[in-house]
Amino acid sequence: MVRIDLHTHSSRSDGTSPPAEVVAHAVGAGLDVIALTDHDTAEGWGEAAAAADELGITFVPGMEVSCRLGSRGVHLLGYLPDPTHPGLARELERILEGRDGRMPQIVAKLQAIGIAIEEADVHAVSGDAAASGRPHVADALVRAGVVEARDEAFARFLGPSGPAYVRRYATPLEDMITLIREAGGVSVLAHPWGRGSRSALDADTIARLTDHGLTGLEVDHQDHDADDRERLRAIAADLDLVVTGSSDHHGTGKVDHDLGCNTTAPDQLHRLLEAAAAAARASGRTVPTLAGPGLD
Ligand code: AMP
Ligand code: FE
Ligand code: FE
Ligand code: ZN
Repeated sequence: MVRIDLHTHSSRSDGTSPPAEVVAHAVGAGLDVIALTDHDTAEGWGEAAAAADELGITFVPGMEVSCRLGSRGVHLLGYLPDPTHPGLARELERILEGRDGRMPQIVAKLQAIGIAIEEADVHAVSGDAAASGRPHVADALVRAGVVEARDEAFARFLGPSGPAYVRRYATPLEDMITLIREAGGVSVLAHPWGRGSRSALDADTIARLTDHGLTGLEVDHQDHDADDRERLRAIAADLDLVVTGSSDHHGTGKVDHDLGCNTTAPDQLHRLLEAAAAAARASGRTVPTLAGPGLD
């Protein structure tokens, strides 16, 4: 059986392993296809692709883009877009700058409630990440002994109702669906009924986004219980959307997200790749390709 995991993170965003290690761990977990979908960056693709070629696993380049629908945060998975497309590149830069740019305010808010932490402590844990985000603040708080784990930092300080929460820039969702298509890629809504986005993404909204060019729904995700999955699968069937599944692996940064804990069916990956090939032809751009062994 072909095992496919289409959503993972490396240390280029908020995962805890470098891209090549994520790929090696995917081989170890018995996967045949792995996508790297770091937040708002394609920086890990080269390293992951090289590792996939060496280790004999198929690699799908992707990204998870921070978007908003109204005032709600929504994550959009983009597969195989050309990251040098000027509009897409500009927008990713804007998101990364927004994430980095709010770090002084987050640190100041933590200091204001008596927590001894400096920006340098955050940068000490964010390593080669494209930008420093809340998960890195959480890691710095773990290192300082303030909390036990990332989850606790989000629950006590960094979540939307926490004392150190600071908003940041995110791209309007429909604009990003358009940009990814223009860049020759395809869009899949990440964990549509996960924390935050659930109330924003009802069936009518998903239908409207499908008309706008959305290709798939990530149904099998740890944020969705069995009932959610059944209802999302029905919505996807109604709208002829591709259904994906993934671990949303973050290394040791998220518990209960082991590589391959949810997977994508091979026929669904084929549909996704066909849609990407069509978008690539229409875009006229040189788009990235899969690495490692080809698919049948
Ligand atoms: P930021 O982009 O800086 O706003 O941070 C958001 C990221 O934090 C998300 O993409 C998640 O991967 C991560 N995250 C959100 N909530 C939690 C949590 N409770 N525990 C661990 N990581 C989280
Ligand atoms: Fe994350
Ligand atoms: Fe996400
Ligand atoms: Zn993710």
